[in-house]
Amino acid sequence: MVTKEVEMMQEFRCSKCNKLLGKIEGRAEIVCIRCKTLNIHKEAHEAHETKDCD
Ligand SMILES: [Zn+2]
Repeated sequence: MVTKEVEMMQEFRCSKCNKLLGKIEGRAEIVCIRCKTLNIHKEAHEAHETKDCD
């Protein structure tokens, strides 16, 4: 069985140490188990930042 939900999931990495925290969809707040940094992920349309490419 193939579910499209999987395609919406994206890898979420720690902004500080780049550890893979998990795969998420939508909003999430995950504390990195390695460096204890709180990483907050927002849905794309919630981002009010500039459109600079990564
Ligand atoms: Zn980390």
